[in-house]
Amino acid sequence: MSEVNVLFVEDDEDDYILTLDLINDITFEKFNITRAKNAQTALMLLNESHIDLCFLDYQLGAVNGIELLKQARSLGFNAPVIMLTGQETHSLDETALAAGADDYLVKNELTVARLSRAMRYALARRDIAYERVERLKAEADNKLKNQFLAHLSHELRTPLTAIVGYTELLIHSQSHSYLDEELSIILRNSQHLLELLNDVLDLSKIEASKLEIFLSDVHLSVMLTDIYTLMSHVAQRKGLTLTLSSDAVPEYIHTDATRFKQIVMNLINNAIKFTDVGSVAINISMCENSANHLKVDITDTGIGIAHNHLEKIFQPFEQVADVVSKRVGGSGMGLAISYKLAKLLNGDIHATSQIEVGSTFTFTVDAGETADQLFKPVAIHNKPKEHALQALPACCGRVLVVDDVDDIRKLIGLLVKKTGAKVQCADNGRHALLHLEQSYQNNTPYDLVLMDIHMPEMSGDKAVTFIKKSYPDLNVVAITAATMKGTKAKLIELGFSDVISKPVDQAEIYALLKNVLPQKNQEEKPQFLLVEDNIDAASAIKMLLSTQDVDVTVAHTRKHAEELIQSFTYQCLLTDINLPDGSGFDVINVLKYETPNCFVAVASGEDITSHGMRHKIHTVLKKPINLAALKGLVEKVRVH
Ligand code: ADP
Repeated sequence: MSEVNVLFVEDDEDDYILTLDLINDITFEKFNITRAKNAQTALMLLNESHIDLCFLDYQLGAVNGIELLKQARSLGFNAPVIMLTGQETHSLDETALAAGADDYLVKNELTVARLSRAMRYALARRDIAYERVERLKAEADNKLKNQFLAHLSHELRTPLTAIVGYTELLIHSQSHSYLDEELSIILRNSQHLLELLNDVLDLSKIEASKLEIFLSDVHLSVMLTDIYTLMSHVAQRKGLTLTLSSDAVPEYIHTDATRFKQIVMNLINNAIKFTDVGSVAINISMCENSANHLKVDITDTGIGIAHNHLEKIFQPFEQVADVVSKRVGGSGMGLAISYKLAKLLNGDIHATSQIEVGSTFTFTVDAGETADQLFKPVAIHNKPKEHALQALPACCGRVLVVDDVDDIRKLIGLLVKKTGAKVQCADNGRHALLHLEQSYQNNTPYDLVLMDIHMPEMSGDKAVTFIKKSYPDLNVVAITAATMKGTKAKLIELGFSDVISKPVDQAEIYALLKNVLPQKNQEEKPQFLLVEDNIDAASAIKMLLSTQDVDVTVAHTRKHAEELIQSFTYQCLLTDINLPDGSGFDVINVLKYETPNCFVAVASGEDITSHGMRHKIHTVLKKPINLAALKGLVEKVRVH
């Protein structure tokens, strides 16, 4: 039984002893009683000690009990107070309650039962109020936590987007192949960081019931081919074999493809991680006990899990102890997330295992209505799908990239430019509107706007409503790091035609551009940028080049050349060295940064073989340039 601290504020000795006698007969709690004989002591005790319940005499010598109560309440005392009065009057009752008393009792009518009931009610009311306060506090805390997570997700994803994106770009540009290994290490680690961040976010979103599930009809063989292709590389690297067998199953299942993949890949990853020799086998079948549930078994020949650990591994942050000493990475969140995701997909995960023999993790998932489908075994297609995804589309058209973070704007701009489309940038919604207005005035409208959401001056969601009013047919796609439930639907409602999440996935951007932008005929002419300050020489070279079936844009200054490079992808740069506002080498440096694959030719009167920039130049055309030299150049560009 807990102890209830009671303060008795009573100046009359007889009244105190009489009431105390009654209280001593009450047995539902143990009471620890302190007495205060005057208002001053009472206030001090109410303020400083932990009091659960207070009896307060109405008349304390010269001081009125109600005044004392008001004072105590204003000082923050919030435990229940029962007033004791000499006689019953209705007005006294009302004043006492208004001043913050919970109940009031007439002294000469006191009985054990009455006192006991009053104390019980007062304490129960206190508990209810306390619970309510705690609940409100917890709700507020949870809201704060979610806000914090949304903010954290945005803050962390933005720099990671830049790191992952630029590293990928560097790896793909041949000019840095000597750094491939180092770059791969950076990429691997930043991707890992991103995965951990996603795990933390997933877990907290699931816990706050904020995780959104997108159900669609998913082609099982295609999805499992993706998973199998990716994971067999991981298995091979460890010298393990990954096999997939299948019973007859429906061709399509109705589920959330992303979450399904996440679960199965996590289980296969674990199987590979905790297996040193042998194999990992995936088996696909239908559940014996539920006709519309698909079953995925993942069996490994690994270290196994002790029986008493099997239940715990689905708890967040649970790892079997020797994982740490074995130095296999992991956060202990994967299975907890997979388990909760499986539940969200109307499914389940369980495991059987034997130490030193291996484990089988079984994931079952609601497959939706499958009765009218053809059942056949899953077929793994050997075509490596990555290539198809990675293929760079050849686009034209104009794209406006809007983001307040310089690095991200440039990164997205680079990706778009690589497809051949023209890019302009703006750093907030207001500037984007100005760009659009100007482009329509100049009769060079945009085909697509890629728009960040959180930006100073004017955010993306505000901007899109303006854009949609003036240019209802313009495609505006949101690029956002916000991943909370409902975000996508809200953005689409505002007028965005699609939402791409940060960090941007190259393949996703390419797929979007391929869908939205006009496609370039592959047979189109190569685009040359000619930088030559001498106007006559420039027009002569342009004319000669044009006879070779190429498109030529001319810049007479370094500044103009750099502007052109920033908004368009050229296949060849032919530049003079001495320009009125700088050097052709400066132009080459900007070009190498913006379009690393562009063919670089320098027109020069002098020998530059020993120049420090030589490694960035593919060929040097000796001035004066003739048609034969230009023909040779065009030939080289076509095979580059
Ligand atoms: P982690 O990030 O540590 O892999 P998980 O939640 O995915 O976190 O797994 C939790 C723990 O369960 C692991 O640390 C490991 O001890 C155990 N475990 C999971 N899968 C296997 C498996 N296939 N074989 C042996 N142990 C496993």
